[in-house]
Amino acid sequence: MGTDSAHFQIPDIPGYYTLKCDFHMHTVFSDGVVWPHIRVDEAIGEGLDAISITDHVEYHRKEVEDNHMVPYEIAKKHAEDKDLILILGGEISASRDHFNALFLKNTDEPALRDTLPAKRIAAANKQEAFVFWNHPGWTAKYKDGNCPRNEEFIELMKAGQIKGIEVCNGDGYWEGAHDLVQEFDLTLIGNSDIHGVSAYQYQPDKHRTITLVFAREKTVEGVREALLNHRTAIYQGDHLIGPEDLLKPLFFESLDIETEYREGTSLARMTITNNSDFDFMCENKSLFKFYNGIHFFTIKAHAKTTIIVKTLEQLSGFSLDLLVHNVLVAPGKSMELAITVEDL
Ligand SMILES: [Zn+2]
Ligand SMILES: [Zn+2]
Repeated sequence: MGTDSAHFQIPDIPGYYTLKCDFHMHTVFSDGVVWPHIRVDEAIGEGLDAISITDHVEYHRKEVEDNHMVPYEIAKKHAEDKDLILILGGEISASRDHFNALFLKNTDEPALRDTLPAKRIAAANKQEAFVFWNHPGWTAKYKDGNCPRNEEFIELMKAGQIKGIEVCNGDGYWEGAHDLVQEFDLTLIGNSDIHGVSAYQYQPDKHRTITLVFAREKTVEGVREALLNHRTAIYQGDHLIGPEDLLKPLFFESLDIETEYREGTSLARMTITNNSDFDFMCENKSLFKFYNGIHFFTIKAHAKTTIIVKTLEQLSGFSLDLLVHNVLVAPGKSMELAITVEDL
């Protein structure tokens, strides 16, 4: 994060709230080390809008109550009157292919622990859950660290039983998963999968991997509607990953751009104020060159960036074509856009 604040600062886009979400985390009720209260407090402290505590549905620590609904109930009580959307979820993890189910009605349902993955996924779908494939290139199973084309799961994607995929989990990014998103119209998901304490792991200079959900309303139903309609992006490290039609408006909503000619010259001074956490790593692809520096520049988070464009003559308007390297709109493809300046 390009700011000292641990609180995410990410703008809304026209028509939608940009909800900062983490749909994958653990507590002492499975293999995490914190009480559910802490997950709620961390989320509020970091400026998240929605979380799901997704303890493994197959097992509980012996020391805690053997009812899989308990972590949610504790967190729910603690989140009461607080501005945080809490989604009931669980991680289906009997094999080394794991799936998260969001919007479950009962995480204690025995069918979620069936021996066959397809049956467990069917049980989650029976509860009208939103199921996504977790860490699909996890080296505990896939030694090359790549997301495989698993035919069984692809059939479940086609049948609508698997609706999303963690293209990012923690520091991991899986291009093969990104390919599956494009091919089977899945929802892109990025989560922390945090087991420890967020402040030790991330703050103050890093942030957890999150899913940006572009929702019509800040409610559980709003999150669900956006997930079902693939309106998500991922914010991981310095990267944004997602569809161009959402990330382009996010880029422009993050910035205030003012341009004027330096008196008596054809040098257009463009001052870009970035009010968001994102550093945008740009390359000038226009015919117009810069007076102050070469064609690579970063629009730094929470800062002003000035570029001086040589337009060769004073124009009433022009457009600057950019390649934004750290915004990925498809596997291996960075976002291209134009900053258009008018009425100079
Ligand atoms: Zn897992
Ligand atoms: Zn997990």
